[in-house]
Amino acid sequence: MTFEHLGLVPPLLRALQDQGYEHPTPIQAQAIPILLKGRDLLGSAQTGTGKTAAFTLPILQKLYQNEGSGKRKVKALIVTPTRELALQIDENCKAYAKYTQLRSTVIFGGVKQHKQVQALRNGVDILVATPGRLLDLMGQGYISLNHLEFFVLDEADHMLDMGFIHDIKKIVAQLPKQRQSLFFSATLPKEILALSKSIVGNPERVAIEPEQATAEKIDQEVYFVSKKQKIELLTHLLSEEVDEDVLVFSRTKHGSDKIVRKLTKAGFKSMAIHGNKSQNARQRALRDFKEGDVRVLVATDIAARGIDVEELPFVINYDLPNVSETYVHRIGRTGRAQASGMALSFCDWEERSYLRDIERLIDQKLEVVEDHPFVETEAPAQQASGSGNSGRSSGNQGNRNRSRRNHSRKRNY
Ligand code: AMP
Repeated sequence: MTFEHLGLVPPLLRALQDQGYEHPTPIQAQAIPILLKGRDLLGSAQTGTGKTAAFTLPILQKLYQNEGSGKRKVKALIVTPTRELALQIDENCKAYAKYTQLRSTVIFGGVKQHKQVQALRNGVDILVATPGRLLDLMGQGYISLNHLEFFVLDEADHMLDMGFIHDIKKIVAQLPKQRQSLFFSATLPKEILALSKSIVGNPERVAIEPEQATAEKIDQEVYFVSKKQKIELLTHLLSEEVDEDVLVFSRTKHGSDKIVRKLTKAGFKSMAIHGNKSQNARQRALRDFKEGDVRVLVATDIAARGIDVEELPFVINYDLPNVSETYVHRIGRTGRAQASGMALSFCDWEERSYLRDIERLIDQKLEVVEDHPFVETEAPAQQASGSGNSGRSSGNQGNRNRSRRNHSRKRNY
C-alpha cells in the first residue's frame, strides 16, 4: 500500500515524501478513503498510530480541491486537549500543506492572545485549538465558524478526563449542522460514545489496537541520575553496555546539540536532528545513521517524527517527556515489526512526576536499574554539597554489562 493508492493529490504526496513517510500506517490506510468520501468517522486510536496524518491529509486534500479566492475563513476546526498536542497537529498541518496555499494556525491558553488573534485576522483555513482559548476567542468575536466544513475532536477521552466536557458541548452547539465530523478517542467507554453521538452523524468506525509494542515487545528500564551526570551515564552506557546504534531523545534543540558536542568529544560518532537543522541536514543525518556511519542520533520529539529506521534496537530517553504520550511515541521507535527493542530512560529528580504519569499511562512500572555508577537517590538540595551525587554503587556491575550485551547479541543486530 502506498499513499498514491489512497488517491492523495501530488502536493500532499510530495510533502509526505519530504517527511520520509513511505507507507501509510494502518489507521491512515483505513481512514483516508473513508474521509475522502465525505463520511463521518469514529476512530479509536491512540497518539502514536499516525492518526494526525490520517485526519489532516484528507481535510487538506478536500480544502485544496475546493480552494476559492478571497479572504480565508476557518473551514476546518481541530480541537485537542493539550497545548503540546495542538502544537504538534498544527506543525503536521503545516508540513503536509507545504506545497499548497492552505494555511493553519494554533491557539491555546496560558499565553497572551495577541499573536493568536493576529494570525486569525490574517485568515486561516485550518484552526487547531484547545477548548478554553477557543471559546474565549469565539466569545470575543475573533473566530467565526459559519464557514466550517470539517470538525475534528481529538483525544476525546482525555478531554473528558480533563473536565472539558462542557466546553466541548458549548463548541459543538456553535458549529454549522452541515459538516463532516471526525471523533477520535483511544478508548470508547459508554460516556465517550454518548458524547460522540452528539458530534458525528452516522459514522464509519475505525479501530486500531494500541501499539502492542509498548507493553509487550519493548524492555523498558529507568535510570535515576542527576541532571548533571546524564552525559556521563550516556557515555558509560555507550562504551560499556550498549553495542548498537542508539536513538537518543532530548527535550530541546539546544540540549540535543549539547549532547552531540559532548559525545563527539568522547569519541562517539553522533549527529543531532532538530527543527533548526535544514531538511537536507536532517536527511543526511538520518541516512548516515541508517547506514551505520553515525552511531548515535540525537533527536527532539518533533524532529523524530517520520523517522523510520527498521530494527532500531535502542532508544534512550535522555530527558523524560512531560507529556506521557510522547514517551509511548518515542519508545515506539524501537520494537517495530517483528523486532523486540529496548528503551532506557534517564530520570532526574525533577522528572520523577513525569515518570509517575508515564507509568500510569502505560499501566506498567518501569524496571529501575539500581546498579549503575551514577545513581541519584536523593533530591539535589538534600545531597551533601560538592559531593555530586550519592549512592555511587559498584554492586554487580559486571553482571549488568553482561546482561545488556547479551540482550543485544541475542537479537542479532
Ligand atoms: P501521530 O499518531 O499522528 O501523533 O503520529 C505518530 C508519529 O508517526 C509522528 O511522529 C508522525 O510524524 C509519524 N508518522 C505518521 N504517519 C507516518 C507514516 N505513514 N510513516 C512514518 N511515520 C509516520
